[in-house]
Amino acid sequence: MNSPVKSQRLFEEAQHFIPGGVNSPVRAFKAVGGNPLFIKFAKGAFITDEDDNQYIELFNSWGPMILGHANERIADAVKEAVEGSLSFGAPTAMEVEMAKLICAMVPSIEKVRMVNSGTEATMSAIRLARGYTGRDKMIKFEGCYHGHGDSFLIAAGSGVMTLGEPNSPGVTRGVAKDTLTVPFNDLERLEEVINANKDQVAAIIVEPVAGNMGCTLPAEGYLQGMRELCDANGIVLIFDEVMTGFRLSKAGAQGVYDVKPDLTTLGKIIGGGMPVGAYGGKKEIMDYVSPQGPVYQAGTLSGNPVAMAAGMAMLTQINESESIYTDLANTTEAIEKGFQANLDELGLGYTMNRIGSMVSLFFTDQKVIDFDTAKSSNTEKFGLYFREMLNNGVYLPPSQFETLFISTSITEDLVGRIVEANRTALKKIH
Ligand SMILES: *Cc1c(COP(=O)(O)O)cnc(C)c1O
Repeated sequence: MNSPVKSQRLFEEAQHFIPGGVNSPVRAFKAVGGNPLFIKFAKGAFITDEDDNQYIELFNSWGPMILGHANERIADAVKEAVEGSLSFGAPTAMEVEMAKLICAMVPSIEKVRMVNSGTEATMSAIRLARGYTGRDKMIKFEGCYHGHGDSFLIAAGSGVMTLGEPNSPGVTRGVAKDTLTVPFNDLERLEEVINANKDQVAAIIVEPVAGNMGCTLPAEGYLQGMRELCDANGIVLIFDEVMTGFRLSKAGAQGVYDVKPDLTTLGKIIGGGMPVGAYGGKKEIMDYVSPQGPVYQAGTLSGNPVAMAAGMAMLTQINESESIYTDLANTTEAIEKGFQANLDELGLGYTMNRIGSMVSLFFTDQKVIDFDTAKSSNTEKFGLYFREMLNNGVYLPPSQFETLFISTSITEDLVGRIVEANRTALKKIH
């Protein structure tokens, strides 16, 4: 590995002009130690930094690059779109195609509105749920991330019946008090909170498979139970599938678990790497969105022609494929099994959670079912592991509380190299 001198120099310079040197906090490697690598380009399964080090990609821009980097059909679609101008601020045929395709792939979505990020999608979905129900409060789950909208940045661990406390300065207590937090995978606590706030809860928002506390699966019947509680109490159920949408199946996690939310938020994969988000769901609720309905939501660049071209090229390829999700699951299972064999051989305590092409290795011997158990992981050890994996040519997401995102570019041959790197890294930190 070349010494990362150029990355180092760029990071120093960046810190003079950009807060923390990065345009999104987790990129700064604070959770794993060391300095971030500055990226020059990526192709297929490989990403190359400014010092010409090449790594196998298990990170993929936090999920979007499910077909690997610089996918040809996406690149061609973007080039063609660029020639016709970058933006109109007026409707296009491509937006109709995109909406039709999303509705076809995700059956719970009858109408959909395009936005520019996952954050925008969740913020808009919550406003819509409030406008539709005429209620103020919402319930979220500890350890679930829904972007950086004010109402989502609420401390985990606040008492069940107590009011939320903001966990970022700048979020007002007025906003925070309308967000109730509950542990993931605990249906009883959820029911208690709903009962304690009768007829006041507009929405429950959840990552149906949580990815932002490390891959954490819903217990059997948990999502069904949540659906029933929402039906019984007139609450809008929002599945935040920004991460899981088009990753776990054509219909996301809801397709795997066979539970229909009222609204779904999408992002990441939907834009093929461009800044795109979307929210959609039941026609009756979506018709509350302006200009059809009274709930205002707008965007100068929403449905941008270049972004739509990238997204269409991404979703079309996924939709055309018969085998993408079984192939991805098989590749990821091979990685999981290889890691497990290494860990067992070395006698290291661990937990691995996997579904499809999302998998997390937690440095804890507790079962990880919620935020508290996820937090039992040894994050220092993860940091060492992360850096050793880099030294051995594998780029992981720079946090214990993330999942690997496997792309279709990972071949059997690469799985062997990844498992070998894991073995070397684990031996080093053992
Ligand atoms: C990434 C993510 C978001 C935020 O999306 P941005 O595009 O970063 O704003 C929201 N919800 C979930 C589940 C995510 O994984």
